[in-house]
Amino acid sequence: MKEKGKLIVISGPSGAGKSTVVNAAIKGREDMCFSTSVTTRAPRPGEVDGKDYFFITPERFAEMVERDELLEHAEYVAHSYGTPRAFVQRQMDAGFNVILDIEVQGARQVKEKMPEAVLIFILPPSMEELRRRLILRGTDSMETIEARLTRAREELKEASRYDYIIINDRLEEAAEEFAAILLAERCRYAQRKDFLETV
Ligand code: ADP
Ligand code: 5GP
Repeated sequence: MKEKGKLIVISGPSGAGKSTVVNAAIKGREDMCFSTSVTTRAPRPGEVDGKDYFFITPERFAEMVERDELLEHAEYVAHSYGTPRAFVQRQMDAGFNVILDIEVQGARQVKEKMPEAVLIFILPPSMEELRRRLILRGTDSMETIEARLTRAREELKEASRYDYIIINDRLEEAAEEFAAILLAERCRYAQRKDFLETV
């Protein structure tokens, strides 16, 4: 029987390198997929509806919350974000490991509902480097960058709730750490106990 997939939650300050690290780590792997969130924020240049996010109106967002269609949801710097439940469930049932790139309040909701979820926090090497990366990324105004840095300082306090911490200084090392966590999780007793009985 095919094993059920795992739920992997990635959080960390905006600009810490979550998308960069995860994309580098899962390149060429067929057992992983990303959950695409819904958001009420506007697309950034180059972002594609249905790929980066499903960009929806606040009214549609409220309707999804009302109908319990979101596994978790939260407000982040004046916009709403949420994870559609049906996709995650379907993919995990089909044996895929599903990655959620979500902020800390959402991660907390997921851990409460699904304690077996693996929570990973990605840290930048310093706040100065975080600011530099946000500026270099060039997708946000200075006002938004300042708001994101303020939020980042608050988010760091939540790191203690996570199972693992990755420091994204050198990208290759951070990607290796991510892959190592996935490997270790696959070797957990709970994951292997059915096999034990067949030996
Ligand atoms: P997040 O998904 O956490 O918001 P991104 O993956 O968009 O962050 O990364 C923010 C910026 O930092 C991007 O421009 C990315 O290219 C850059 N970046 C990511 N990881 C590193 C790294 N290890 N060293 C230098 N720059 C990085
Ligand atoms: P951004 O606007 O930079 O794409 O994302 C801002 C923050 O929202 C990031 O910390 C990202 O992880 C988080 N985020 C993205 N999608 C979701 C989601 O579905 N739920 C929650 N709780 N946070 C999300």
